[in-house]
Amino acid sequence: MAIKDDCIFCKIANHEIESDYVYEDDLVCAFKDMNPQAPVHVLVVPKDHYDNLVDDVPGEVLAAMAHAVKEVAKRTGIDKQGFRVIANTGADAGQTVMHLHFHVLGGKKLGEKIL
Ligand code: AMP
Ligand code: ZN
Repeated sequence: MAIKDDCIFCKIANHEIESDYVYEDDLVCAFKDMNPQAPVHVLVVPKDHYDNLVDDVPGEVLAAMAHAVKEVAKRTGIDKQGFRVIANTGADAGQTVMHLHFHVLGGKKLGEKIL
């Protein structure tokens, strides 16, 4: 798997376009969502391109994403109060950017809990 042409998150994750980064390692990076839905709203994305969770995502990439979520929570100070992680996946979920990403949301009491 590699980078996909004309994918905005591939470009951000590989610094072709710069963003407001919160965390980065060899496999993943995390940057602020441009349309935040909470005081803290960060996206965690792999550097390689995968469409979403039903793509063939290696376990080490998923583990790196989970580790990045924890780092983002610590660095933004939402680890103690709590936060929400969302992966909109496919059409019914309204996924708009077809590059795997976790939303990390926090910094306020979150509403509309559906599960
Ligand atoms: P989703 O609906 O789960 O696919 O979410 C896509 C998210 O990406 C939305 O919350 C957008 O605000 C965010 N987004 C789209 N383009 C950018 C960008 N260039 N930089 C930061 N966030 C972006
Ligand atoms: Zn991509």
